[in-house]
Amino acid sequence: DKEAVPLLQVRGLTKYFGSFAANNAIDLTIAPGEIHALLGENGAGKSTLVKMLFGVLQPSAGEIVWTGKPQTVTSPGHARSLGIGMVFQHFSLFEALTVAENIALSLDPKIPLTKIAEEAAALSRAYGLPLDPSSHVADLSVGERQRIEIVRALLQNPKLIILDEPTSVLTPQEADKLFETLFKLKAEGRSVLYISHRLEEVQRICDRATVLRHGKVTGACDPRQETPASLARMMVGSEVAAV
Ligand code: ADP
Ligand code: MG
Repeated sequence: DKEAVPLLQVRGLTKYFGSFAANNAIDLTIAPGEIHALLGENGAGKSTLVKMLFGVLQPSAGEIVWTGKPQTVTSPGHARSLGIGMVFQHFSLFEALTVAENIALSLDPKIPLTKIAEEAAALSRAYGLPLDPSSHVADLSVGERQRIEIVRALLQNPKLIILDEPTSVLTPQEADKLFETLFKLKAEGRSVLYISHRLEEVQRICDRATVLRHGKVTGACDPRQETPASLARMMVGSEVAAV
């Protein structure tokens, strides 16, 4: 049964920086069409985990199983070719270049810029991400810059799109628009890995949550079935949450 194969399985994923384990034997499973939260306080290890999934960092130990097959994700380009898209917390855009020129940098140089601009414009309309491909990044707001990164990811038709703390730079109105885009991705059967430390938005938009604390998984749940207090306990530990 094809439906039963998880899109992504992470098994025992571990990352050491020197002798410090930023990720310590992480297990995580993402189904197709699921909005999956990675929830945890600052420093819990969320960005480290997704950087391994996107080929930015190499694991010290453990396994990434993608569509049923163990994979070594060697680089972001490799991750994109597998069908993994990523919207980073800190964007790497060139201010002096246009939206289309920035997007072109992560694509095959043989693709004409006019084609990239057309496709970017079409995706921005289809996914409710208003963006003019000919505008210069220097003139754009942080919300618009994030939309470039989302459109860039969508251009490669990803099965999984990872967003690292996307709402930290958005107004509440922009965040609501982003959630509509995520619901559309989900309706198309794509999966979203949504990093956040904000309980209320995770409870509002996510189907599953994996909670990290000090580099370890402290809970995996349907966040809608939890109370804010029970989620907070997984995030910060019972000692602190009880205060
Ligand atoms: P989060 O995204 O949950 O805030 P991170 O994954 O960014 O957490 O970081 C987890 C821990 O690993 C933190 O203590 C951080 O200081 C440490 N860390 C992250 N990246 C590096 C690095 N390149 N070198 C050393 N320590 C790092
Ligand atoms: Mg982070």
